[in-house]
Amino acid sequence: MNFSSKNFFLLLSLGVIVSIGLGFLIGFFSKDAKKIDQTVVDYYSKLIRDYDPKGLEHLINEVNAESIRSYLKNITFLPHQGGTEMDKKSADYIIDSFKEFGLDHHEIFEYDVLLDYPDEKKFNNIQINDSSSILEKTYEIDEPTYDPGINPVSKPFLAYAKSGSVSSDELYYANFCMEEDFKILVNQGYNVEDKLVICRYGKIFRGNKVLIAQNYGVKGLILYDDPFRAAPSIATGLIYPTGEFLPNQGTQRGSVMVTDGDPLTPFYPSNEYGYRIPDRKLDDLLPKIPAQVVGYSVAYELFKLIEKNAPVENEWKGELNMTYSYGDRYVMIGNHRDSWTLGSLDPSSGTAVMLELARVLMKLKKENKWSPKRSVMFLSWGAEEYGLIGSVEWVEEYLKKLQANSITYLNIDTMIKGNYSYRAYASPILYDLIFDVTKSVQQTSDETVFDRWLKNDPNLEKSEPEISPYLGSGSDHMSFLQKVGIPCVEQYFARDKKNQYFTNMDSSSYPTYHSAYETFRLVDEILDPKFETFRILAIIVGELLRRLSEQLILPFNVTRFSTQLQKEYESFRSDHKVFLAGLDIHLDLLENSISNLTYAAQKFTKRLESIDRSKYHLVRMYNDQLRNFERSFLDSSGRDRNAY
Ligand SMILES: [Zn+2]
Repeated sequence: MNFSSKNFFLLLSLGVIVSIGLGFLIGFFSKDAKKIDQTVVDYYSKLIRDYDPKGLEHLINEVNAESIRSYLKNITFLPHQGGTEMDKKSADYIIDSFKEFGLDHHEIFEYDVLLDYPDEKKFNNIQINDSSSILEKTYEIDEPTYDPGINPVSKPFLAYAKSGSVSSDELYYANFCMEEDFKILVNQGYNVEDKLVICRYGKIFRGNKVLIAQNYGVKGLILYDDPFRAAPSIATGLIYPTGEFLPNQGTQRGSVMVTDGDPLTPFYPSNEYGYRIPDRKLDDLLPKIPAQVVGYSVAYELFKLIEKNAPVENEWKGELNMTYSYGDRYVMIGNHRDSWTLGSLDPSSGTAVMLELARVLMKLKKENKWSPKRSVMFLSWGAEEYGLIGSVEWVEEYLKKLQANSITYLNIDTMIKGNYSYRAYASPILYDLIFDVTKSVQQTSDETVFDRWLKNDPNLEKSEPEISPYLGSGSDHMSFLQKVGIPCVEQYFARDKKNQYFTNMDSSSYPTYHSAYETFRLVDEILDPKFETFRILAIIVGELLRRLSEQLILPFNVTRFSTQLQKEYESFRSDHKVFLAGLDIHLDLLENSISNLTYAAQKFTKRLESIDRSKYHLVRMYNDQLRNFERSFLDSSGRDRNAY
């Protein structure tokens, strides 16, 4: 049997424009600055005015499900892959909306970055040849359309994988393509070197799958999403277009680059005067082997070929059979705009919420129902899917200004992964604020968002909902957390933890992820027909923005951070006890330093409770300390001159 895979046509194109829309809503500092001489007293009283505890009512009255629905419909009408003409159109749509809502400032920032596109005229394909090399079967990789009249989306591919054709007379299955999976193959005497390998999605980032395969000498990699998690057998009848599960030709597109930002300009913005790595070095930066994604029907055909030569352990089995001159502080909310296909969930569910909030907050501001003390910035990123490119380049360009003036960044990428319960990942100093806000928003008439969350996802002590500090680097908050060093939140609605259809799928993903089936109809008819989940999310995020921009003292609790550090320390110590003892490594200094921080954090919080809030210089001083707290944990030069 001769197996070959041919025609991985990928075009690399330089010089594509990534644009970032930025809307800027200026707090009263700038607007009222000219009036200072009129009455200094008035001005001062504004400075020390706290937020309006009743302001949430205004938000609840204004946020409108139908309006969110119309934004989502408009954004998902055309596919908007990063750097394409259609992505520019969606950027214009967002900027035009900001203008219409009356935001004080809006701007598009452009960067020339390296993006990767499939050949739209020719399908990537998989060929199976027989031993005499006479063509037996060709599978052109594509996703059929189930919604008549819908706009066509890009063909399935993996961005930044090497272009070209590879063939091999053997194909191996390596489970999730993790280090331990390859070790099992090697231990059992299988040699994957110079061979083709097929793996399923899940557990680790797809880019790492390619990297690990490459390190084991694999020649080419095929990825697919096993129905084990994307379309479990009990979900028959709920496969798209009827339900939310992945059809057998459905494919998860994605980038397989393992760094973030434009690969040609690490550490620096990719503008015309920045240093650019020469093209000839490009091969060293990107994956060295071709990789392609296929639907599980094609994977099934391939598995028939390898039944004899791959060991399938039980656990391996699937189910196959800006402008910064204003000088004040800013609170930022952002989401990427680009999507591999129509992107109704990733990322447009977040974009629709962001547009609604820009509209509502501007309206409330005009009606004097909201008076932000700090500016609110709305950010719409380009080319996130390729490797957080828009946000990384922008932060690289404005890093110092952002470190000097920014307060926090709320990321609102895919906001609907389910419609049952709220879920958040956040810097610990924001936990109290998030709990407070979710306690003040009703999910149903007899249950707050907090109540439902606690019921669905309690922490170990069952005292509070589970909230995780592990924001990771899966979306645009990465640069703000790891480079600017400000607290961040990532939040969405999740599924019922007891939902039997999703036993094998992590709550952070969903079956149609990055496929052609992330359509407006998926949301409008299947996931959130009344847009009630969207409405609740918009109110929560709106209230977070309102409190962060308006509260006299920043709503940060530093003792949450020290408590988290204590926990991390305890688990580190117990997990590595033997290892550390073997090397005669003691942790006394670390332990001391954490308890010193805990003590200082508690004392600071006590002092803060009793400061005279009518003394603005005191308020400002404490706010600055709160603002810089998280940043003190950054190492500006990074480990081994690595970005993180
Ligand atoms: Zn996303």
